[in-house]
Amino acid sequence: MPDYPYADPVVELTDLQEIARDVVVIPNRNVDLVPNIGLIGGTRAVLVVDTGLGPRNARKVLEFATAYAAGRRLYLTTTHFHPEHAFGADVFAGEATYLLNRAQADDLTTKGEGYLAMFRQLGEPVARELTDARIPAPDLTYDGTHELDLGGRVVRLRPTGRAHSKGDQVVTVPDAAVLFTGDLAEAGQFAIFPWFPPYDVDVSGVRWIEVMNRLIEERPRVVVPGHGDIGDAGLLTQVRDYLTELRDETWRRRDSSLPEATIAAEIRDLMIRRHPDWRLPEWIERGVGCLCTERPA
Ligand SMILES: [Zn+2]
Repeated sequence: MPDYPYADPVVELTDLQEIARDVVVIPNRNVDLVPNIGLIGGTRAVLVVDTGLGPRNARKVLEFATAYAAGRRLYLTTTHFHPEHAFGADVFAGEATYLLNRAQADDLTTKGEGYLAMFRQLGEPVARELTDARIPAPDLTYDGTHELDLGGRVVRLRPTGRAHSKGDQVVTVPDAAVLFTGDLAEAGQFAIFPWFPPYDVDVSGVRWIEVMNRLIEERPRVVVPGHGDIGDAGLLTQVRDYLTELRDETWRRRDSSLPEATIAAEIRDLMIRRHPDWRLPEWIERGVGCLCTERPA
């Protein structure tokens, strides 16, 4: 098992942020494989957004959510099927109604076990959190857009179409102009391209840019990224601009028929120079790999 060089992927109930009335984020403290987790309350119910990695983290989130809800009914949704976002959802069974868009439910069915096996190889701290992890199944699957009435507040669950994954879903709180993006946006790090050919080639840089353009037009006041600090609409623009420069730099070099490894190395250097404060540069090369295949003929 490889050494895991990062902090343990553990959700901590510290520095909770109330970003709008009855909308709370358990921040990921910039710890890898810990997502930002949301709680959105209405008069009758509370929606939890994402679970953390594995049952132990999810139990902590469920315990907190139960206390926070103080008798209100619990709902759960996840932004996409990746393990740190969704592979704790089965802990909520019987306690919360787990709602999902259909494409994400399909991702869990077709890719869940493969990702569980892959993540267990990342290192002991990750494998430990995934002990006894099971691929969750939703209680309710919706098509189109789902409006969830929490009592005095309607929250909108909406698939974006394939971008970071096939089943990406965003969650908006219209009365507070809050947007939960999942991994469609990350702050302080390079965009995560889960480009793992031949096992997973669902990520699309081109479609991701289109999705970001649509989200930017909605002008949210608060943007909760999948990982990293909470921001505003400027965070969406930053991600869109990075994806666009990654696409343009990749395609420009692809035109000159350079080998992919050379392109990836050049662009990695370039992007690190342009974004010296961003973490996880290993995602740059995967992004280049993805975008190489997406260049129009
Ligand atoms: Zn992800």
